[in-house]
Amino acid sequence: MNAVIATAPAATPQQVLHEVFGYGAFRGAQREIVEHVVAGGDALVLMPTGGGKSLCYQVPAVLRHRAGQGVAVVVSPLIALMHDQVGALDELGVAAAFLNSTLDGDEARRVERDLLSGRLVLLYAAPERILTPRFMAMLQSLNERGKLSLFAIDEAHCVSQWGHDFREEYLGLSALHEQFPGVPRLALTATADEHTRADIVERLRLEEARLFVASFDRPNIRYTIVEKDEPKKQLLRFLRDEHEGDAGIVYCQSRKKVEETAAWLSAEGLDALPYHAGLDAAVRRRHQDRFLREDGVVMVATIAFGMGIDKPDVRFVAHLDLPKNIEGYYQETGRAGRDGLAADAWMAYGLADVVNQRRMIDESEAGEDFKRLQRAKLDALLALAEAHDCRRVRLLAYFGEASEPCGNCDNCISAPATWDATEAARKALSCIYRFGQADGHRGSGRYGAMHLIDVLRGKLTDKVTQRGHERLSTFGIGADVSEAQWRLVLRQLIALGHVQTEGEFSTLALAESAREVLRGEVAVRLRVPAEAKARGKTARDRSTRGAAPKPPPVPLDAAATARFEALKAWRAEVAREHNLPAYIVFHDAALAEMAREQPATLDDLAGISGVGARKLEAYGREILRVLESAG
Ligand code: ADP
Ligand code: ZN
Repeated sequence: MNAVIATAPAATPQQVLHEVFGYGAFRGAQREIVEHVVAGGDALVLMPTGGGKSLCYQVPAVLRHRAGQGVAVVVSPLIALMHDQVGALDELGVAAAFLNSTLDGDEARRVERDLLSGRLVLLYAAPERILTPRFMAMLQSLNERGKLSLFAIDEAHCVSQWGHDFREEYLGLSALHEQFPGVPRLALTATADEHTRADIVERLRLEEARLFVASFDRPNIRYTIVEKDEPKKQLLRFLRDEHEGDAGIVYCQSRKKVEETAAWLSAEGLDALPYHAGLDAAVRRRHQDRFLREDGVVMVATIAFGMGIDKPDVRFVAHLDLPKNIEGYYQETGRAGRDGLAADAWMAYGLADVVNQRRMIDESEAGEDFKRLQRAKLDALLALAEAHDCRRVRLLAYFGEASEPCGNCDNCISAPATWDATEAARKALSCIYRFGQADGHRGSGRYGAMHLIDVLRGKLTDKVTQRGHERLSTFGIGADVSEAQWRLVLRQLIALGHVQTEGEFSTLALAESAREVLRGEVAVRLRVPAEAKARGKTARDRSTRGAAPKPPPVPLDAAATARFEALKAWRAEVAREHNLPAYIVFHDAALAEMAREQPATLDDLAGISGVGARKLEAYGREILRVLESAG
């Protein structure tokens, strides 16, 4: 590793951004945050996944190191992320290292030597490592010499029990402030509701810190939520139609479903790999490595996968099952399109999802308060899934941000057809009520959705005749509504809490609020299910999509595409040689810009976003050669 650039003379944040990182401009609040920290202030930064948190401490680290203020210590719980970031910094010519359990004794001592010598600009370490007496003594020694430039505490929500991944070790990090009050601290997170935010401030002693809340919008991500019909086939269609050859993640709830889905996609000819906590550690590592290093791998995973994966060119995140809440959904979908190019968040959602999630909460061991909170969070997610207005407006509203319809979600792109389902809802509710009456226990049904729909549609199944349900006054009153539509009516009634599901067989029962609907006091408007629309409509759907202002992924003409492909092939070679993921060498966005702009000189090339001084020096000539020979 050589650290030419990091030891160059003092500079401004803008110069470092340009020279070292190769970027033309700060994004959003980055500049303010950098200036605040460089001047010695503490900060709490809330920015969505992919918003650009790393630069908020990396640029100050370079600046302060150049000013003789020593090393920045970055606390991170995520080993994969440390490796990636150190690899990327290495490519940029910034001296960085990590200390974690993957190093053997000799390697760790070498890093410690580099740390104490003042050579390092950034050191990444796991919290449990930082809090050891040995490490604290090293920090003490650095601090006495004025060589501790800043602390960055990544994933700061881990300090809160309210957050979704509390880590005991984070509680000890207040020691950093107590022992080194003069060293600026920067806490960063992508997920913090009010409660978690207050915890971070209190537990990390950040009372004096300035709060920076970036917009949570990820405009390049297109949100789509489809009716679950034949989920695997729908997924395959989505992948084939829109993401041929792209890298992406497919989330499933269970390990079994992960295995099945991955096997099925592989059999269909996709490069799909499974990932879940039940797999051998070596297998997990191998699959993760392939996902990071190779182009176009589809990772089928439980939520065990994703934390600390900052692969920038994930083009889609698909959910085959409903996440637990909007926080989870936003974090998972946020892994798409970190490079700012167009990306998709796609989810298939159906009645069983609602029922399962409700049951999981009901049957959990948690206390009543916690369950109430989980139910409220699930309801917010269900409202998003059922919405027929702009998904993004709802998402952002959930995070406290007002916005206008986005033009880049399914509902904005083609407004869904809706129908007045008030009458149908009343029929369904009264049928559940009749079941209870017939069985002699008022208001509580003993039947699931399938049977209810059969009765409403007047189908003489064995079960219907056994129970004598063909004699109910509600038998056949809903024959004019399709089965798919009935499922949708029920789902919405359950999602809205008018109907409850009970027990192992998810039998249906009326909730208190059902009365209002029965009395016709609440209007119910539903989207027309996909099935009820003409089946062959996908082609038209796609053409309406084409007309929408989709941010172009890589809008290149044929000649530029050839150059882009040539650059990608060259990049793959370099990545293999250096044993690095391709995106650490260059992002797709940078290669696309080169292919489009066709820089002819090193100076021109330096103007491309993502080309810093170090990369220009290391790769500039080769890139010009590749561009020239590709025409
Ligand atoms: P986060 O940690 O907030 O999820 P990252 O720090 O990984 O996000 O940044 C996401 C991506 O955006 C990275 O690939 C990064 O290189 C890129 N990026 C960040 N800031 C800028 C900027 N000012 N200009 C161009 N690209 C940027
Ligand atoms: Zn929208």
